[in-house]
Amino acid sequence: MSLGKRLAMYHDNHLLSRLAGTAIPSKVFATRPGLPDVTYAELFEGAERFAATLTDAGLQPGDRVAAQVAKSIEAIQIYLGTVMAGGVFLPLNTAYTGSEVAYFLSDATPRVVVCDPGNQNEISQLTDDAVLFTLAADGSGTLSETAAQKPAGFSAVARGADDLAAILYTSGTTGRSKGAMLSHQNLASNSEVLCDYWQFTEQDLLIHALPIFHTHGLFVATNVALLAGASVHFLPGFNADAIINAMPNSTAMMGVPTFYTRLLDHSDLNIETVSNMRLFISGSAPLLVETHERWSDRTGHRILERYGMTETNMNTSNPYRGDRRAGTVGFPLPGVELRIMAGEHEVPQGEVGVLEVRGPNVFQGYWQMPEKTAEELRPDGWFITGDQGFVDADGYVTIVGREKDMVITGGFNVYPKEVESLIDDIPGVKESAVIGVPHPDFGEAVVAVVVRNDESLTESSITSELSGQLARFKQPKQTLFLPDLPRNTMGKVQKKALRTSYAGLFS
Ligand code: AMP
Repeated sequence: MSLGKRLAMYHDNHLLSRLAGTAIPSKVFATRPGLPDVTYAELFEGAERFAATLTDAGLQPGDRVAAQVAKSIEAIQIYLGTVMAGGVFLPLNTAYTGSEVAYFLSDATPRVVVCDPGNQNEISQLTDDAVLFTLAADGSGTLSETAAQKPAGFSAVARGADDLAAILYTSGTTGRSKGAMLSHQNLASNSEVLCDYWQFTEQDLLIHALPIFHTHGLFVATNVALLAGASVHFLPGFNADAIINAMPNSTAMMGVPTFYTRLLDHSDLNIETVSNMRLFISGSAPLLVETHERWSDRTGHRILERYGMTETNMNTSNPYRGDRRAGTVGFPLPGVELRIMAGEHEVPQGEVGVLEVRGPNVFQGYWQMPEKTAEELRPDGWFITGDQGFVDADGYVTIVGREKDMVITGGFNVYPKEVESLIDDIPGVKESAVIGVPHPDFGEAVVAVVVRNDESLTESSITSELSGQLARFKQPKQTLFLPDLPRNTMGKVQKKALRTSYAGLFS
């Protein structure tokens, strides 16, 4: 089918018509190690067969399709096929256990659930109403078997800018995780802005090693590549050797900070390996200044750091051309408004407060949680991110941490990042996390959890290094050493887990 014919079929579907808008059908969408390439025609024909399968299973516009499946091209096709059929895509982290999945299924009441064949028995117990299909990492399973009987050439269901395209559950720092409702326009507008800002074109080959149950791999990486008509080097997960091997033929990579620290440990990372690469992007968690500098020394490339979240897509980015400043997340993206607040008031320039953002990227609210939505999304469209940060005189935004991670000790606020940055600068420290734990006198006490690469480093040497640099109330009351910091799949340090582990330290 020609591109023109496909676009005519997708014309009334806001997101799909944009994602499918540029690539000629014979162009390769994905290269995969050890597997055949996938062209744009194959990608969309497979999605069309899935859309027909979902519709025949009873999917009505607005119905949810939940998928807890391994990363594969078929998984991308479930996303595209769901949007095509007018449905709402609900990807689930493959690490979720049965009881966690039970909550998501009861909350989102999907019409269709797709799971790994190995989980079929367990998942079938969790849902009475949904139609269940299976999809294995190699693409086999009842979904593909059923879809093989359907014709390609599905006419996309008409969906407008404000219709929902996806619900992504947030990782939930407190209480139950919340389903962020994302509209066709939320996704399309953000990918268009990013494609332009980062100058993606059909010439690009993007290394795609991120998971696709999260906004970073699913929307930032996949949607931007599709919109540009670019190709992806599609890897099932992070693998330093596979990424190093892919670099000489690739042009860009999107990763979380741990990708960069692990690649720096690879002896083959050097100027020659990256000579074809034009852009390295980092996000989802803070990139240490030290990592930024080591990467730049080793490869000659300055990593472009950006900041976003499930609820808002991407909000800020360092510039493509111009100074990419380590430790900052750059400027608000075109169309995104950003302000720094203390409650109801904007703080003076340069001071720390809570970041709020507004724009076409900001989600529609939390699924079936009107009170939570009202707490975080103001009636005039400003979203209270819960991230704390400041804007410097040049307009660069710096994130200093999550509001919930801020430590209040003896009535004073301590921003963990300020303490962590100083600890990280001490020779022999690999990285650190600063948390607040209950304390009988101070309410909370500052505790530093440190990963060292020099075993001779002691608590007292850290304390004496900090004493000249930090006000006393900011200095850790105790410093503990761990071999690694607990992290989730997106590379975020799990401060909640640390707080739980050390809750009894001063009791
Ligand atoms: P998620 O919804 O899982 O994407 O998590 C979003 C959160 O990740 C944000 O609210 C920030 O706290 C954090 N985050 C994302 N990108 C960055 C970044 N570049 N620097 C610091 N924190 C970040």
